[in-house]
Amino acid sequence: MSLLEQDLKEKGQSIFIFSEEMGRFDFGPDHPFKPERAAKTYDLCIRYGVMNHPWMKVKKPELLDPDLLELFHEAAYIELLKEAGNGEVRIEMLERGLGTKDNPILPGIFEWSIRAAGGTHVGMRELITGNTLVAFNPLGGFHHAMAGQAEGFCYINDIVITIMDALRISPGLKVAYLDFDAHHGNGVQEAFYEDSNVLVISLHQSGRTLYPWAGYETEKGKNEGLGFNINVPLEPGTDDEVYLHAYGAVVIPVVKAFEPDLIVAELGADALISDPLTQMRLTNNAYQRVVKSLLGLGPKILALGGGGYDLYRTARCWTLAWAILNFIEPEDEFAGLVGGMMFGPEMEVGSLYDHPFLSKGEIKERAMTEAQRVVGYIQRDIFPIHGL
Ligand SMILES: [Zn+2]
Repeated sequence: MSLLEQDLKEKGQSIFIFSEEMGRFDFGPDHPFKPERAAKTYDLCIRYGVMNHPWMKVKKPELLDPDLLELFHEAAYIELLKEAGNGEVRIEMLERGLGTKDNPILPGIFEWSIRAAGGTHVGMRELITGNTLVAFNPLGGFHHAMAGQAEGFCYINDIVITIMDALRISPGLKVAYLDFDAHHGNGVQEAFYEDSNVLVISLHQSGRTLYPWAGYETEKGKNEGLGFNINVPLEPGTDDEVYLHAYGAVVIPVVKAFEPDLIVAELGADALISDPLTQMRLTNNAYQRVVKSLLGLGPKILALGGGGYDLYRTARCWTLAWAILNFIEPEDEFAGLVGGMMFGPEMEVGSLYDHPFLSKGEIKERAMTEAQRVVGYIQRDIFPIHGL
C-alpha cells in the first residue's frame, strides 16, 4: 500500500463533487457540451461499486463567492455574463464571445457557471485545509475561458480562479496543473505565464489542426515563469503508445523535479478515439495509466472534468479515473442485466475498459516522429531550467 493510499483509506477522505440538478443543465440539442456526462459518471460509479467506501464523500457544488471572479475575470465581462444569464442580449456581448455558436446566451448560464466553479473551488479548499487527499469535480475544467472573453464552451475559468485563490490562502504553495484535454489549455496558460509557483503542462492535439490554434512547444513561459509553461502538441492519430511516450518523457520528470504541494489535473476525455471533435486516438487505457501515475507525483490531487463529447465513453473514462484515484477496482454486479438498457447500443456492455487500439502506417509514424521531436525540444530547452 502506498503512503497516499494508506492515508486516504485510514484517516483521509476523497470528495466527489456533484449534483443531479447541475447535470440537467442543457446547452441545446445541437451543442456538443452535455453536462449530463457528470450524471452518467455518477451513475456508473454507483453501479460499479466505486462510490460506497467509508472515506468517500459526495458534495454538492455551491455558488462561488462572486468576489472571487475578479481574481481572474474583468469586471465588465462578469457584468455582461450576468446579464446574459438573465436572458438579456446586447451587442457588446458578442465582442466578449457571448452569443456565439460555441458560447450561446442561455438563461441561467451565469449561475450554472459559478456553481460549477464553486465545485472546483470547494474541492481545492478541502484539499488545502482539511484531511481531503483527492477531490474530483466532473463539472469543472473550463480551461478556455479568458479574463474578458468566453470561448470554447467555457464562460468562467474555474481552474484559474481556484488556483489563484489557493495561492492567496497559502502563499508559496506549489501547484502543478496538468491538462490532458485534447485541446490546449489556453486560458490557464495565459493566467500563469509569468508565474513559477504554478507549473502548467498541457498535452493536446496540435494547434495546427485544432482549436484553439495555439499551444506550441515554443510557448514556454516568460520572466519568472520561463520554463514553467510546457506544451506538448501532438499529431492527429496520436494513440496510447505515442501519448504515453510523451507523458513519460516530459510530465513525470518535470513534475517530480518541481515537487508540487497540489496537483490539479484536467481530465478532458476528448482525446478518446471516438470523440467527434478531435482526431486524437486514445483509449481509456492511456487515461488510466496517466491517472495512476499522478498518484505518485503529488501528495494531493484535484481532478476536474473538461472536454469529452462522446458522452458514454467520457462517463466510463471518468468512472475509471475516480476508481483509480481511490485505489479501488470497479466491480459490476449487474453486467448484462442493465448494461445495455442504461447506455444504449454504444456501450460495450458490462465493461468499463476500452479494447486496445494502436494507429498504424504513415499516421502512426508521423505521430511518433512529431512527438519525439517535441519531447527532444522540451528536454533540450526546458529541462535544464528544472535541473534536469
Ligand atoms: Zn477539449
